[in-house]
Amino acid sequence: MTSQTPSDCLFCKIVAGEIPSDRVAESERSIAFRDISPAAPIHVLVVPRRHEPTVGALAAVSAEDLADVFRLASRVAEQEGVADAHRMIVNTGSDAGQTIFHAHVHLIAGAAFSEGRML
Ligand code: 5GP
Ligand code: ZN
Repeated sequence: MTSQTPSDCLFCKIVAGEIPSDRVAESERSIAFRDISPAAPIHVLVVPRRHEPTVGALAAVSAEDLADVFRLASRVAEQEGVADAHRMIVNTGSDAGQTIFHAHVHLIAGAAFSEGRML
């Protein structure tokens, strides 16, 4: 677990602008961009600028960064017109579907939620 920026982290490269992304919002501590492979009509990833491998690790080192990720996700939900109907999903560990080990929250909306799992 490290708070340094690993040179091989995809989301660190997106935060730095070294890899392009469809950015929809940002704050001093976090950025939000559209998922390259959306699971629903609205699928935005909200990522702290600080590198931590999981949301739990982020919570352990910075309550402010953790809060900011969810604050920005809520702002994006409002921006996208889905403040009243969305999910925020966090996958932790490869067995739970985490593929990028830089903390992030999935904001998902624009689809019916009655059919169980979406990710
Ligand atoms: P995880 O499975 O780790 O919770 O979520 C990682 C997400 O990152 C996946 O939904 C995947 O589609 C998305 N993703 C992977 N590579 C890229 C990329 O280069 N750009 C963007 N915008 N999303 C990506
Ligand atoms: Zn990173």
